[in-house]
Amino acid sequence: MKYISTRGDAPELSFAEAMLTGLARDGGLYVPKKIPTLEADAIAAMAGKTYEEVAFEVMKPFIGESFTDEEFKGIIERAYAGFRHEARAPLVQLAPNHYLLELFHGPTLAFKDFAMQLIGQLFQFELTRRGEKVTIVGATSGDTGSAAIEAFRGLDNVDVFILFPDGRVSDIQRKQMTTPADNNVHALALDGDFDDCQARLKDMFNDFEFRDGVKLAGVNSINWARVLAQVVYYFSSAVSLGAPHRKVSFTVPTGNFGDIFAGYIAKRMGLPIEQLVIATNQNDILHRTMETGAYTKEGVTPSISPSMDIQVSSNFERALFDAYDREGSVVAQLMEDLKDGSFTISQGAMEMLRENFASGRASEEETTATIKSEYAASGEVLCPHSAVGVKVGNEHLSSVPMITLATAHPAKFPDAVEAAMGTRPGLPPHMADMMDKEERVCKVPNQLALLETLIKDRIAAR
Ligand SMILES: *Cc1c(COP(=O)(O)O)cnc(C)c1O
Repeated sequence: MKYISTRGDAPELSFAEAMLTGLARDGGLYVPKKIPTLEADAIAAMAGKTYEEVAFEVMKPFIGESFTDEEFKGIIERAYAGFRHEARAPLVQLAPNHYLLELFHGPTLAFKDFAMQLIGQLFQFELTRRGEKVTIVGATSGDTGSAAIEAFRGLDNVDVFILFPDGRVSDIQRKQMTTPADNNVHALALDGDFDDCQARLKDMFNDFEFRDGVKLAGVNSINWARVLAQVVYYFSSAVSLGAPHRKVSFTVPTGNFGDIFAGYIAKRMGLPIEQLVIATNQNDILHRTMETGAYTKEGVTPSISPSMDIQVSSNFERALFDAYDREGSVVAQLMEDLKDGSFTISQGAMEMLRENFASGRASEEETTATIKSEYAASGEVLCPHSAVGVKVGNEHLSSVPMITLATAHPAKFPDAVEAAMGTRPGLPPHMADMMDKEERVCKVPNQLALLETLIKDRIAAR
């Protein structure tokens, strides 16, 4: 199994190499050269299996020779051992034909744990085998950072730096990033928004001297291994509702397009998915793109679902690559156009996108109203991101079961939930002392050169 860049001008890599590399050297994102498919029998045989067993079956065809079956099974077992639910990704029913996929039972209470815990184990295994060290730099709108820190803290062969937008993450998200005491963990509060964090991270990858000097590795959802880990729960949930004999639909609260792109991969692999619905908050560039065919950046307006406050949706590039019949040069040109603020998608490419994705948006008021009405209707307490999903999911109900992804635990966003329902969701007992712990954080300007110097100094000092 080989991986190629969406911009068509970077070396082909194995799974392990693509995972350690993150962003391709031509600025593109790695995707499998060919997407493997699973026969209906193989999907049917997943019924009743554990999450870990399904994970092995779904991901194995993408791994190639990088890990033996036994190695990979051990990695998967260790990755999900710390989850607090036997099913890992349980389904609960909201309404006659609407289900919620709870993806918040991992160590940091958001779906990012599914990918990050796996990547932590994969990195540790591969780096130990190679006798190498890496520097991980991640940009976060809140949840990726804590998930990455939780996955890599205390490892000798990894330094992990997390850039988060100062003042734009929830208190709990910040505490999760700033309270771990391990000296390989570095939380950096950047003077800017999430798109600035992500832009500086991309700059570091494009500065080859720095990149090679610190052995930079990326764990943002540009990393293929993250997308792959997320494909699994589309299979596990669909199978528990009767796939492949019965179709299902999914609605996915979307920011960087990583999670929903994993759903698209599941569909390409042969999972019978009827609709894949993009749900955005008021920062609705993806919904507008689906409606108009023009991808146009506007400013980010902070919302009560901050993990989706994004205008540059990195993984959308992977969908464009397929929409343009995998012509890397066309994608490279579109990304060049985006530097001036927008690009227009051709009619043929738009047809492909609309065949595969529907979309909707939720305003702040609609999000709040959904938290309240869903609690009244089913007793389920939604985080604001999941509420965006449920609102849009409700608009796409049909005779096919709808599964909406619940991407975070409500206790991660207590203010928004309390404002909607009048009661404050409590943290799970194992995290109850989080708010009293001491914080370690470094405020940093939105300047590449200063950031690179700081990172080099911190590594040298360890
Ligand atoms: C990251 C995140 C999202 C958006 O996921 P993408 O893969 O970036 O589309 C939605 N909700 C929560 C809670 C998140 O942490």
